[in-house]
Amino acid sequence: MKNITSILLMSALGFSISCSTMKENTTKIDDTAVLNNPFYKKSTLQYQAPEFDKIKDEHFAPAFEYGLKVNEAEIAAIVNNKEAATFENTILALEKSGEVLKRAQIVFYNLTGSNTNPTLQKIEEQYAPIFASHADKIYLNSALYNRIKAIKTDGLDAEDQRLLEVYKQRFELAGANLSDSDKEQMKKINAELATLSTQFSSKLLEARKKGAVLISDVKELDGLSADEIAAAATDAKNAGYEGKYLLTLLNTTQQPLLQNLKNRATREKLFKASWYRAEKGDENDTRAILERQAKLRMEKAHLMGKSSYAELNLVDQMAKKPENAMNLLYQLGKPAVEQAKREIVDIQALIDAQKGGFELAPWDWNFYAEQVRKAKFDLDENQIKPYFEVSTVLEKGVFYAAEKFYGITFKERKDLPVYHPDVVAYEVFDRDGKSLAIYYLDFYTRDNKNGGAWMSNFVEQSFMTGTKPVIVNVFNYQKPAPGKPSLISYDDVSTMFHEFGHTLHGLFANQKYITISGTNVPRDFVEFPSQINEFFALEPSVLKNYALHYETKEPMPQTLVDKIKKAATFNQGYATTELVSAATLDMAWHSVKSDAEIKPTLDFEKEVLTKYGFTLPQVPPRYHSPYFAHIWGGGYSAGYYAYMWSDVLNADAWKWITDNGGMTRVNGDRFRKYILSVGNSVDLNQAFKDFTGRTPDIKPLLQNKGFVK
Ligand SMILES: [Zn+2]
Repeated sequence: MKNITSILLMSALGFSISCSTMKENTTKIDDTAVLNNPFYKKSTLQYQAPEFDKIKDEHFAPAFEYGLKVNEAEIAAIVNNKEAATFENTILALEKSGEVLKRAQIVFYNLTGSNTNPTLQKIEEQYAPIFASHADKIYLNSALYNRIKAIKTDGLDAEDQRLLEVYKQRFELAGANLSDSDKEQMKKINAELATLSTQFSSKLLEARKKGAVLISDVKELDGLSADEIAAAATDAKNAGYEGKYLLTLLNTTQQPLLQNLKNRATREKLFKASWYRAEKGDENDTRAILERQAKLRMEKAHLMGKSSYAELNLVDQMAKKPENAMNLLYQLGKPAVEQAKREIVDIQALIDAQKGGFELAPWDWNFYAEQVRKAKFDLDENQIKPYFEVSTVLEKGVFYAAEKFYGITFKERKDLPVYHPDVVAYEVFDRDGKSLAIYYLDFYTRDNKNGGAWMSNFVEQSFMTGTKPVIVNVFNYQKPAPGKPSLISYDDVSTMFHEFGHTLHGLFANQKYITISGTNVPRDFVEFPSQINEFFALEPSVLKNYALHYETKEPMPQTLVDKIKKAATFNQGYATTELVSAATLDMAWHSVKSDAEIKPTLDFEKEVLTKYGFTLPQVPPRYHSPYFAHIWGGGYSAGYYAYMWSDVLNADAWKWITDNGGMTRVNGDRFRKYILSVGNSVDLNQAFKDFTGRTPDIKPLLQNKGFVK
């Protein structure tokens, strides 16, 4: 699945003041440490790209301590300024503060997501409450808030005013208007929530690792390709089980290998390992943590005078209110479940025709759906894969589409240091040929990497700081056995286009201020640029260019292309239901209004799914609550609906593009101008209207999914 940057969250943590919890960890700053720590000064690499050849685990804690102290002094100077508050001496001063801290944090959180280790995990856990309380000391600082309120807007341009508004709202949403005693309560809640979220992520990572299924007899893996078996053998060897096979878990409920495993018992084993991974009553059980998170988030909302956390959390989003989000989920979920029921009938018919003698279970779905797809559309995933080699898809697909639509070009950079040998780097050039950004890609799954795929910035664009974007896309593709080509599924191809859509949003950022630059937008807008970019994967001229057989270099035959297109609406009942049911779970957990509504995890989940009509046992949610990392470990709490919200935007905007000449440079420039380059510097409901000339319509999405004609 696709998810975005934890760094989006980080911009809200930002700056700070010293805190009591720091005392025992206070590190003396000596001059040698300052000289040797790569975070204390700007990187000398192009666009301040991180100096991964110099950065070591032991640099983070001192950089955090030093950064916190510097930041504390900066904030004190703003608050104690004798002059009347102005935009320059308050907002700009805030925007400029915390440089060292942010530089260290941004690299740190990228690494803890993509390449962590026990040392980094320990630091993460240690600093989570410190950073939370740090942010509180800024955003709950009455003197600072009063200065912001007093700023006059005369002479400010539109972007300045927007920045001022965003800061004001951020302070208000953090609780700057609360009484002193409520502020103390808020600080306590935030500190505990920060710790819980980190604990959730650490436990889940362990649970995912321990949940891997060990297979002794290769016969049980019947149906897997030779490469998949070799990869499982390598994983087993690395885990200390030489001669066996390890099926590692991905973060979603369904596991890609289920599609090919012929042995039903193995399928059941793998599926159950996935489903039950974090509810075994052992040290990696996440249920108590998430129940506590739901309770604390509710209490936080109550402090702020809101009935639920969802209500609080949607104030600054496009959706504005939980009802609007729930309404969308209903409009999408109802036809999706109906479609899934028809899909069940098709699959059961196939099982019966094969004299299977059993009822379809979730672990059978992908295995038989794949066969239905073959029968109905004559399309075989294994026929497709040889045409999707990772670097060809990237350079001749993703990059080619961007060049055609936006006029930008790419050059591989082997000279830049990277944080893992698998990471590759490119320099990006703008339509006028000028250098624009640095872009890294980290393709392969590792057991020290979070699941999913995401985009993140190492450096964010800003005219004020003179910085250009330095961006990374992280994936979890199965790493091929040594010497084998990296062939990926169409889903993986689509994910690559998706993450690159986020990258474009970061690349084309064109703001004075980082806080409202690039992808620093509401969650229910942020997936719009990424999801619309997925359409290019099937655009005929693009597909022709990248879908080349890895051995013969022949383009994909037109008959196969036609089949892929015809099959585009295939399985949409399942795919949409699993997403919408997960989004509904998220909204339900964050709509609780009293302690009594918070039941034990499994009971709560069951009640919600029943209440909203997601009762098909064959179609479980994409994430089961105990491993729903987006909402308990990441920044999507009361926000998972955002994917579907953005989906409405992208389907409608894509319709506008195809109705108006399609993939032309003129349309590319227009999309860049109104959508990709505005960051959060304008009203985004208005930005959509500026691009299409209308308010978003859900119909194109329902049509794309084949739910309506
Ligand atoms: Zn995304």
